Amino acid sequence: MDLPVTGECRLLHTCEMCEYNNDDDCKADHNEHNRWLVNHRMNDIKYKIIVGSNKGGVGKSTVTTNLAIALAENGNKVGLADADLHGPNLPKLLGAESVRLRADDDGIAPYETRNGVKVASLGFLIEDPNMHIAWRDAVKYDFIIELLGNIRWGKLDYLLIDLPPGTGNEQITIIDFIGEVDGCIVVTTPQDLALLDARKMISFARDSNVPIIGIIENMSTMICPHCQGEIDVFKKGGGKKLAEELVLPFLGSIPLDPEVAIRSDSGEPLVLSRPDSIPAKKFIELAENCHKFLHPNESLKTG
Ligand code: ADP
Repeated sequence: MDLPVTGECRLLHTCEMCEYNNDDDCKADHNEHNRWLVNHRMNDIKYKIIVGSNKGGVGKSTVTTNLAIALAENGNKVGLADADLHGPNLPKLLGAESVRLRADDDGIAPYETRNGVKVASLGFLIEDPNMHIAWRDAVKYDFIIELLGNIRWGKLDYLLIDLPPGTGNEQITIIDFIGEVDGCIVVTTPQDLALLDARKMISFARDSNVPIIGIIENMSTMICPHCQGEIDVFKKGGGKKLAEELVLPFLGSIPLDPEVAIRSDSGEPLVLSRPDSIPAKKFIELAENCHKFLHPNESLKTG
């Protein structure tokens, strides 16, 4: 296969697996080579799914992590890519902050959770988690190529990509490089402000020809620990209404539950640590709904 030789490869750590050249001074065009590398990894993955909200703080990373764990618990091979460069929190959510990833000639081995979810995040590569990331677009672009193309994802049923807030450079680059994204899950909270941002995420996904799997309402009603009554801290039902208005599937709502925050802070995703709790059951239901969207004729258990 011929590759333009107008540039300089710079991907020297994946030479062993490269079809074009495995020479130390490869002059293959950098951009072409990037595309080849990402395609090479993505071809082994059945469903590439982006999870977005446009807004930060709505629980997108928490939902994505528990969704990935729930899909894996049901026999799927799952990968979890943390594309949030400015707040790479997945290592913290998984209790794996001290983990460091290693590169060899075939790429970087992802971290694996105890139920086999393969995870990659900038958080595994930076020395000081308190340091901010101030990268220009070109560096972010290179990181996204690393995340998609240089991690040894292997054969997967699902790759969930936890998007950063916004609908800009990082999101466009990810969709562009994956080529065919199989679906987008939109996470929102019930307040009007979050719903407004969710609308923009939906419009962005539609404009990018990414099918929308559905909307999840997080931090919905809270159950009072004393009287067991419902308290609508951030209002209720906005996500469902939005789904009805835009004729999209509503995947379900997750209650606002202190245990979700406590378990997240201690790096034990609820689906693994308290699978019988109400929010964990809701996450499992979300995974089933997501699976149904992609496999309308089978249940999740058949994975
Ligand atoms: P995002 O990825 O949208 O920025 P995070 O997943 O980091 O949001 O969540 C923000 C905070 O909200 C975290 O402290 C998390 O533990 C908490 N949180 C998320 N979902 C819930 C929930 N359903 N109930 C209680 N706390 C939650």
